[in-house]
Amino acid sequence: MKPLRDTVIRAGLEALYFSGAHRWLRPVTAGMGAIFMLHHVRPARGGAFQPNRHLEITPEFLDATLAHVRDCGIDIVTLDEARRRLMAGDGARRFACFTFDDGYRDNRDHALPVMRAHGAPFTVYVAADFAEGCGRLWWVALERVLARADAIEIEREGGALRFGTGDAAAKQAAFRAVHGWLRTLADDRAVQDAVSLLCARHGIDDAAIARELCMSWDELKAFAADPLVTIGAHTLSHCNLARESEAQAGREMADSRARIEAALERPVSHFAYPYGDRDAAAAREFALAARLGFATAVTTRPGMLFAENAAHPTALPRVSLNGNYQNARFLAVLTSGAATALWNGFRRADAA
Ligand SMILES: [Zn+2]
Repeated sequence: MKPLRDTVIRAGLEALYFSGAHRWLRPVTAGMGAIFMLHHVRPARGGAFQPNRHLEITPEFLDATLAHVRDCGIDIVTLDEARRRLMAGDGARRFACFTFDDGYRDNRDHALPVMRAHGAPFTVYVAADFAEGCGRLWWVALERVLARADAIEIEREGGALRFGTGDAAAKQAAFRAVHGWLRTLADDRAVQDAVSLLCARHGIDDAAIARELCMSWDELKAFAADPLVTIGAHTLSHCNLARESEAQAGREMADSRARIEAALERPVSHFAYPYGDRDAAAAREFALAARLGFATAVTTRPGMLFAENAAHPTALPRVSLNGNYQNARFLAVLTSGAATALWNGFRRADAA
């Protein structure tokens, strides 16, 4: 999706691994702990065109990750405990949290058994509209359109643009271009309209995707009863909060929490910003989450947790378990913090 960034990450991980630099960097970069970010956990799918592959790892890789974290003597803790340690400056033992975004059913079917085998608690951030079966997972819809179509056309400002999408390489290039263009649109409504138009033209039922992939309220209620599971909020509509007015962003955050609490009859105190990068969550959103009383809120900015992060519990960085890098030898690099430290230029806390 972001080819340059992907290449940089891969090159960085390889260089760190082969140089052994992650070992000597570790005292500087490892910090107190890390929050791992995951999306789908499911068996690998065949096919060359998988533009969303960075959003899924296999149960085997999850198992290897948990085993590695345990082997490093790192405690696997809930977000409540992570917050407690952060606030108390309790760095006696390194810790890791596992967080899963969006509320996919495969988290129950494929992740939960692995987490159970390791006795590892974890958090799933639920977008209320996905649980309701009415949200739009436009990035999945776009993948399905391109998988099926031999050519697509989008109506950009300045005229229609046509992409030949006859083979996997062309589909990948078109996905990258269209995805990049979509992220420039004014708001999520415009993104969904553009993707829905493509879906209508190419016979994809984008309205059915949430129900197909995400847990319903009934399923979530049973899932949330597992003592290892914490449910967090992830807005109502999975919108880019930074593109909304402050009032609307506040409603997306507060109302998603209220809806989850009503449906699951349990308190919700943790939040994840959809998309979570600098263009989707920054100082205004961090302040909103704090004002609304969330105990923690996580971004997708890469980084480990340091004592400095205690001042910004609603602007926490995460370490992505990216499906494009499911190689056991990268795990030592990721848990060392060297990769994310390089990415951040060795800045330890970033809440601007
Ligand atoms: Zn999400």
